[in-house]
Amino acid sequence: MAARKLKIIGAGLAGSEAAWQAARRGVEVELWEMKPQKKTPAHHSDGFAELCCSNSLRSNQLSNAVGVLKAELSALGSLIMEAAYATEVPAGGALAVNREDFSAYITQKIKSHPLICVREGEVTEINPEEPTIVATGPLTSDALAEQISAMVGGGELHFYDAAAPIVDFASVDTSRTFFASRYGKGSPDDYLNCPMTEAEYDAFYHALLSAEVAKLKDFDAASQKDLTVFEGCMPVEVMAKRGYDTLRFGPMKPVGLPVPGTGKDAYAVVQLRRENVAGTMYNLVGFQTHLTFPEQKRVFRMIPGLENAEFMRYGVMHRNTYLNSPGILASDYSVLKYPNLWFAGQMTGVEGYVESAGSGFVAGTQAAQKLLGLDPIPFDDTTVLGAMAQYVSRGTNSKFQPMNANFGVLAPLDRKVKGGKKVRNEALAQRALARVNELRELFG
Ligand SMILES: Cc1cc2nc3c(=O)[nH]c(=O)nc-3n(C[C@H](O)[C@H](O)[C@H](O)COP(=O)(O)OP(=O)(O)OC[C@H]3O[C@@H](n4cnc5c(N)ncnc54)[C@H](O)[C@@H]3O)c2cc1C
Repeated sequence: MAARKLKIIGAGLAGSEAAWQAARRGVEVELWEMKPQKKTPAHHSDGFAELCCSNSLRSNQLSNAVGVLKAELSALGSLIMEAAYATEVPAGGALAVNREDFSAYITQKIKSHPLICVREGEVTEINPEEPTIVATGPLTSDALAEQISAMVGGGELHFYDAAAPIVDFASVDTSRTFFASRYGKGSPDDYLNCPMTEAEYDAFYHALLSAEVAKLKDFDAASQKDLTVFEGCMPVEVMAKRGYDTLRFGPMKPVGLPVPGTGKDAYAVVQLRRENVAGTMYNLVGFQTHLTFPEQKRVFRMIPGLENAEFMRYGVMHRNTYLNSPGILASDYSVLKYPNLWFAGQMTGVEGYVESAGSGFVAGTQAAQKLLGLDPIPFDDTTVLGAMAQYVSRGTNSKFQPMNANFGVLAPLDRKVKGGKKVRNEALAQRALARVNELRELFG
């Protein structure tokens, strides 16, 4: 079959995987990487797929959605997963790697692939007619980010991630909470309210004031300065420092939310907003934060009803270039307006090393299928790979936010299972792996 050409910009986790998958299908790839000529403030080495922070690819267990995603990628022949297992270091239930060996493995494989031509240099322009995957990551260079912003429309490319934590609904103690929208406006199901007494607020407030904040890297410190410009992005702990009652007049405002049984307003209320149609995930409204993850767990579990909350995503605040993908991307990561242009990696609104590699896997595969005149691979939302792709293209009820792999994005089971969340997640994992097994024959 005649090889067709695909340009890929960025040789990070997503771009490397996309290049490998496209070349594996017989497409000629031109892979552009600005390192070593130019580096983002977080990248230091010259190799591809650099892990710029932790060396962990997180849980390796099927009880965790990222563990299922890794199993799916391994089964389908992912280069990132092959490299990870080849350079693994002991890390208990997690998959951690020797980062230099990991990057060297991938760089060597890509550079020696006969269909991949590596080009060094910063790409500053995109021609949407030329088949291209943009995988330049959360720290995309400024010139390219400007171009992308102009192409997708102002306001559709975000530069900061100021996200509130998301909890698993099944872990909320609903005997301490109530469903209601403020002043009875809108559907009551959309908000779950956690009312606080004065004593509970007082304890929570002081814990928040003294909680440990994540250390800022130099480049984050710069973006943090800019963040102060946007009041809407203010971390909840910073707001608390403005005064004892500031939160009670802000995100913890109790008015218009009478507590059932008493009919009176509570002293303060934390509102959780439904994050997905199935109602399996809720975000803490207005609780964007820069606390460390363990401190978020400790302090936010002081909120009535959240004593045993499972955090599906912690709040984050950092420089993060990502598209407001719903309405811009299709579920194969192509741009609805420009069918020959795909995005992959953190830029699409997936969050994390493995998730970025996963989106590169899907984008590279589907771009190759299209260039070769073949049908797309039918990834669907029974697999984490397909469900993440659908999440970025459809979003949820609330403002679109980057998301780690989690069981909440998967299609619900079509049968009831007894035994609680653990059993349900096991069933979801088994269903995902069975589906991937069916897809394997399409991967040769
Ligand atoms: C500081 C920081 C720390 C993070 N830590 C973690 C963590 O510990 N664990 C985790 O799971 N996730 C982490 N993430 C989130 C995310 O998973 C990683 O950023 C991940 O590397 C994203 O993969 P990617 O392929 O989308 O982008 P990247 O891996 O960043 O790859 C993008 C590549 O594109 C290149 N590039 C950029 N602009 C251009 C251009 N114009 N022309 C050519 N090349 C270009 C870059 O040099 C880079 O090599 C972190 C993110 C940041 C910003």
